[in-house]
Amino acid sequence: MRSFGVTVAMTIVIGFEGSANKIGVGIVKDGEVLSNPRRTYITPPGQGFLPRDTAKHHRQCVLDLTREALDQAGIRPEDIDCVAYTKGPGMGAPLVCVAIVARTLSQLWNRPLLGVNHCVGHIEMGRLITGATNPTVLYVSGGNTQVIAYSEQRYRIFGETIDIAVGNCLDRFARVLKISNDPSPGYNIEQMAKQGTVFVDLPYTVKGMDVSFSGILSHIEDVAEVMIATGKYTAEDLCYSLQETVFAMLVETTERAMAHCGSEEVLIVGGVGCNRRLQEMMGVMCEQRGAKVFATDERFCIDNGAMIAQAGWEMFRAGQVTALEDSWITQRYRTDEVKVTWRE
Ligand code: MG
Repeated sequence: MRSFGVTVAMTIVIGFEGSANKIGVGIVKDGEVLSNPRRTYITPPGQGFLPRDTAKHHRQCVLDLTREALDQAGIRPEDIDCVAYTKGPGMGAPLVCVAIVARTLSQLWNRPLLGVNHCVGHIEMGRLITGATNPTVLYVSGGNTQVIAYSEQRYRIFGETIDIAVGNCLDRFARVLKISNDPSPGYNIEQMAKQGTVFVDLPYTVKGMDVSFSGILSHIEDVAEVMIATGKYTAEDLCYSLQETVFAMLVETTERAMAHCGSEEVLIVGGVGCNRRLQEMMGVMCEQRGAKVFATDERFCIDNGAMIAQAGWEMFRAGQVTALEDSWITQRYRTDEVKVTWRE
């Protein structure tokens, strides 16, 4: 491996994230988050975000955001030791935009590149912020739904969605009801769900350790408008019922993974992970098992640059760097493909 003359004892990593509709640049110095600015591409109610438009948004923001991250951290480019970026999984065009910026800065600044698995970024950020040592991880977002536990240098997937992610189910439900995407559809569903009083039975789809959300979504897409038109149910009732149903599925599979591993910690990461009702339901299950639930707030559980910097910092410490010719992106990149050489 090429030596960059960097002292590992005091390492400053800049991380670039842009795999979906957020673009984030974060700077981390040995476990301390120095800055973590982020912008979100917000679409009108009823609309999702398309790769091409999202990449355009990221291209327009990324340089200003990089300047902002440096200024907030109070450091100069020459203080940076490594440049980390999200290699995947995610949407192709937005990933490419971020990879090009990271690759360019790595060459301009003559610093090593670190291609980070986005899911591993979430896990390492969660571990850093909460102090959970060896948790069973529930990773829930717009693009991912996985129950993960660490074993023998891999983050192993115990259960996952067999179709769409839980966050995608919530986002698309929000589009049916024309719920605002600002600040996020999930946040607005969470607020509306608090006003819900009538529970509507929805399909509950757990298959072994795996979950499925596409059938629940198409069911609720079919019935939502008709149900609200009867006057017997409100949009708030549907938000409440959908949350209770899909979160119960996630808590059930997480509990089974914990029982298998003998785990006493759960860490919830990913954008859906800042939902307080999900955290509360997970807390009830954990309390009954004598376990503890760890979660972070929206600064760290929603996609951000610092999580990529933090996972990059772990990789670099363990001697993993990404050669320029390997600095491509990939839309499919499973959590368990990464050799976690930084953990015992
Ligand atoms: Mg994510």
